[in-house]
Amino acid sequence: MAKYPELSWSIARHKTLMTCARKYAYHYYTSHNGWLSDIDSLPQQTYRLKKITNLEMHFGSMVHDAIEKAVDHYRKTAELPDEEKMKDFIRHGLNLAYRDSYKREFAWWRRPKDYTMLHEVYYGDTVPEEKIDKIKFRLDTVLKNFFASPTFRDMLNMDKTDFIESEKFRYLRIDGVKVWVVMDLLYYHFDTGKWIIVDWKTGKQADEDRNQLALYALYVKHTFPVESLDDIVIRNEYLLDGETQEYQLSEQDLSQVQNIFERSLQEMEQYMEDTEENAPKPLASFPMQQNLRICASCNFQELCFSDGNV
Ligand code: SF4
Repeated sequence: MAKYPELSWSIARHKTLMTCARKYAYHYYTSHNGWLSDIDSLPQQTYRLKKITNLEMHFGSMVHDAIEKAVDHYRKTAELPDEEKMKDFIRHGLNLAYRDSYKREFAWWRRPKDYTMLHEVYYGDTVPEEKIDKIKFRLDTVLKNFFASPTFRDMLNMDKTDFIESEKFRYLRIDGVKVWVVMDLLYYHFDTGKWIIVDWKTGKQADEDRNQLALYALYVKHTFPVESLDDIVIRNEYLLDGETQEYQLSEQDLSQVQNIFERSLQEMEQYMEDTEENAPKPLASFPMQQNLRICASCNFQELCFSDGNV
């Protein structure tokens, strides 16, 4: 049993540290080994809380799964995806999450990896009606926009495209540190000679979306026979508003993401007692977020507030 987790870096890890250092400590250190049955209760509790999701996130993850399955199935059988079947798959996933959260809390408590707990239920007892209406609307919208997307059109063109990977956890090493890259889709287009990296988004557009894709481009450049950066296209498919954003990267984009990585890693190292072992400083060294609105959406609030929540 490793006493400390292996040090790795990801955009998500960086964003967690930027949100709250205490949250970062819980998520990346305290929860380590919390999946084991013969371990202290704090790592177990922290690991369980880390696994909580919320309705929007769970919906986004079901949409990603539905698209991944549809793409794989089409590439293997040439059968077109069926919108109603995809909707049923997503609805089923959402219903399971409801059932687990309301009726299987104990099962989740014992095996948090195998069951789903919604933040809205855990900390608020119920999912607000307006959230449910919003998700119903999104379900229709995102699938309609998926079928209208340029990526879907390319997917139909099997003779001209080679789909390389989807939703797989990959990593590259930068300065010896493992950097996680989870690409939704990567394909090569024979006519244009371009490598196209696609990220499906079920939320709103954000400034850091481009940085995330630039990191993926670094991975593609390291891993595949890409001759020039001009041969890589990065594309965000915003399924909620039906917009497609494509970027051609410059070397400057790649150095920017490299800079973010370096600065972020330096900051992470400040919270370590031993950088070789990735041993963290005591929990009290990780300051807490002062903005209670941010705490209200955090999974770890029962550890930070004596009343159990904000
Ligand atoms: S509840 Fe607030 S202070 Fe505690 S970990 Fe979460 S964001 Fe940080």
